[in-house]
Amino acid sequence: MSSPRTVLIDRDGVIVKVRTDYVKTLAEMEILPGAIEALAELAKNHHRLFVITNQSAIGHGLTTREEVDRMHERISSEVRQMGGAIEAFLVCPHTPNDGCECRKPKPGLLFQARDKYGVDLNSAVLVGDAATDIQAARAAGCTSILVLTGMSATGDGTGSDYTVKNIQQAVELILASAQKEMGP
Ligand SMILES: [Mg+2]
Ligand SMILES: [Zn+2]
Repeated sequence: MSSPRTVLIDRDGVIVKVRTDYVKTLAEMEILPGAIEALAELAKNHHRLFVITNQSAIGHGLTTREEVDRMHERISSEVRQMGGAIEAFLVCPHTPNDGCECRKPKPGLLFQARDKYGVDLNSAVLVGDAATDIQAARAAGCTSILVLTGMSATGDGTGSDYTVKNIQQAVELILASAQKEMGP
């Protein structure tokens, strides 16, 4: 992996614990241990961070965009308190039946990162927990890292470029590759 300067991070199963009935309220949102620190570490090492998340619970009427924004403000402020920053949260609110272009495995949210924020997708890395994340990364030309804290417990068959245990290990891998590139 060449040194990525932008890291695109899935939310549920990577930063936040997966709930089979969706994370519908701020109170239901359980941040995975060490996730905030890992994100802050990346940011402090000069990486741009974007969260890229399917939230069909909005389209299903199980939660609202406002409540999802509150969750994202919480994640943002916790990362800020650790000295880092998340640049933006890109959200697909649609259900599979809506046939949108942004719901992963489609790469629409990644194209939004490119078009709105000037992200170079070919040098970006995406960290996700599901095969759909890896497919979206591939379709957009990003390097992919699968973590095993969510939907995929083994990583088999997802075709990810890298597979690690959790977001902390993903961050270690990214920072190690940045280090290597800056070496003699
Ligand atoms: Mg996920
Ligand atoms: Zn969508």
